[in-house]
Amino acid sequence: MVVIMKPGTKPERIHALVEKLEQDYGVKVGITNGVGCSILGLVGDTTEIDINKLSINEDVERVMRVQEPYKKANRKFHPEDTVVDVGGVKVGGGSFTVIAGPCSVESEEQIIEVARDVKEAGASLLRGGAFKPRTSPYSFQGMGTPGLDLLLEAKEATGLPIVTELMSPKFCELFEEKVDLVQIGARNMQNFDLLKEAGKMTKPILLKRGLANSYEEWIMSAEYIMAAGNENVILCERGVRTFETYTRNTLDLSAIPAIRRMSHLPIVVDPSHAAGMYWMVEPLAMAAAAVGADGLMVEVHNDPPHAKCDGQQSLTPEKFQRLMDRITPLVDLMGKKLS
Ligand code: PEP
Ligand code: MN
Repeated sequence: MVVIMKPGTKPERIHALVEKLEQDYGVKVGITNGVGCSILGLVGDTTEIDINKLSINEDVERVMRVQEPYKKANRKFHPEDTVVDVGGVKVGGGSFTVIAGPCSVESEEQIIEVARDVKEAGASLLRGGAFKPRTSPYSFQGMGTPGLDLLLEAKEATGLPIVTELMSPKFCELFEEKVDLVQIGARNMQNFDLLKEAGKMTKPILLKRGLANSYEEWIMSAEYIMAAGNENVILCERGVRTFETYTRNTLDLSAIPAIRRMSHLPIVVDPSHAAGMYWMVEPLAMAAAAVGADGLMVEVHNDPPHAKCDGQQSLTPEKFQRLMDRITPLVDLMGKKLS
């Protein structure tokens, strides 16, 4: 961190600030005296320093961070890729993991049929929402706890570990017991109480990018989970809001190489919620694999026209099979192994 002092600040006031910074935060401060003004260079862990608080010091002209405000998720301090184990399935570090299943669990027949189909096509994790974050309170809100039990039945029938969304801290215990990968949805990416509770869980977390959040804000949310004790976080790019209305969201493919440079956490792509249209899912999935994603999350439904949620963007099992057939050689070309 660099602190530029106002021109003409008296040396004793500069020294008082240096002493305070060193004492309060345990950093080392070097002073460079330029023409008319002095610059302080802070070395050490500056993550706890509040820039805004420091900026209101009347002797301070400007404060700039040179180091990112996240530490645990930062690749600088953890150069090798993190590999997250989801019920025996490895995510990250050379694997390409496909998560597939319906938007929401609707019935025993539906989830078991889809689970069998996606497994046969090559998916290694089963998704399905039991608690659904819906824009309208009149829309289907998910089956709730019985939906979780149906996911467990589908897991028993296929061996696929399960991924489902946690919306409230009050269900942490239930999810801890039943779910293999706990999803935090886009709408809750900055629900800090939820993030802190997820950080106390032992199950890995799939953290989706918020509807309009920057890479840094997203990584800071991962940092919340990690700082609370859970370092098994997988990031999921699912498109962001832009001026374009043709698609549901705009898939931000730049996020993959950018996050790869900023963080050691695995990153997967959800082309279904990005596109909002089934026919765009395959090309976006191919593009995600080509920019180096660690996997995909794809919505698959056995009867999309009658789906209770997101049928318009769901692939039929046949279309999903085709996607898997086409993406497999690309995954190989990218030097990854389908897990
Ligand atoms: C989902 O995956 O079911 C979902 C609701 O996605 P998002 O949070 O990305 O909108
Ligand atoms: Mn959905």
